[in-house]
Formats: sequence, structure tokens, C-alpha cells
Amino acid sequence: MATGAEMTTYCVLKFEGKKKLLQDERFLADVAVIDSYFMDGTPEAIVKNSVCDACAQATEGYDSKRGNEFTKMMCKSAFDILYDAIMNNKPENYPFGSMLSGIGFGNASTTLGHALSYAFSNEGVPHGYSLSSCTTVAHRFNKSIFYDKFKEVIEKLKFDKLVLKAPVDQAADVIMTDKGHLDPNPLPVTKQDVMQLLQDIVNGKM
Ligand SMILES: [Zn+2]
Repeated sequence: MATGAEMTTYCVLKFEGKKKLLQDERFLADVAVIDSYFMDGTPEAIVKNSVCDACAQATEGYDSKRGNEFTKMMCKSAFDILYDAIMNNKPENYPFGSMLSGIGFGNASTTLGHALSYAFSNEGVPHGYSLSSCTTVAHRFNKSIFYDKFKEVIEKLKFDKLVLKAPVDQAADVIMTDKGHLDPNPLPVTKQDVMQLLQDIVNGKM
């Protein structure tokens, strides 16, 4: 199941158990076949996590300071399609929405939500699942136009609260080094902010 990554020059690989984000023009696919036919038989949790990632990418990508009118248009259309597909039970529209999100965020960036999520990914939480809470609190922090609708999507998909094993202070130190996601965030973020947001996530305060 695609998350839109097939439209980008990004690739995530695990090195010694830690996920690392790589970027190279050579990662851009020559051909991508996008068809909901290939979703058949995909476990429900994978579909749910993937579409959550696509929603996070579309909305964080829209808010990114690296965006422009073109990427904003792609991200906005992507989220509109995904929101309608999730709320009205039309999973066959997930691949199209995800593809548009890839074109949008792939030419801009993701932001605070993705930065926060790596604290959980490094503890083995699936990427899309960690974004359910991380992107919601990031949208609240950024006063994003997508905050309410993103929260609706998360509630509809029924994600459980996240658990963080590492101390909040230690996790925040790691997140603060993630300039690739924090620099394009629409608002400046301090370590204090990150600690507060992590605390909100584990307390379920969305
Ligand atoms: Zn992602």
C-alpha cells in the first residue's frame, strides 16, 4: 500500500534498529503504478497506518515553510480526497490521495509532527500510528487549519494512545537535532515545547 513515497526522492531505511531518512534524486521512481486493485489482501492495520501517514504528509506539507503554491495545491487536494475517503468509507480513493500527498510534501517537506514521531518510531511504533498523535498535537501547536479535520480522521480510524519508554527530556534532546523537520516548521520550536508536546501525547491530551 503506497503512502505517496513512490512520488518522492525520500527513502526510510533501518540502520541498527534506528530509522534513518535518506534523500537522493536516484530514489525517484521511473514508473509508479497507482491502483487500488493492489490493496486487496493488505492487513487492516497497514492500510490504517499508511493512510494516516498520507494525511500527516499532506497537512504538514501544506504548512511547511519550504512549500509553494504548487505544493500547497497538491497537499490540499490530497487531504480533501483522503478526508472524504476516510470519513465516508471509500478506501479505494486512498492510493490517489496518497499519491497527491507524495507530490506535495515531496517537493516541500514534513514538519513538527514527523519530528516528534521519530521518538516513537525508534521504540518500534509503526510510523503511521505514531503520527496519529504526533501530527495532531503538532497541528494544535502550529494553529494549523487542518487541526480539527485531522483529529476527526484520527478518531474515525480509532488509534490507541501512544506509550513512550524513554524519559521525555531525553527524547526531546534527540528530536531537537532533527533540523530537517524542525526548520521548515511554520513556528519556531523550543526543547520546552517538544517536552510539553510529548507529555500531552502520552497523557492523551490532543
Ligand atoms: Zn511519513
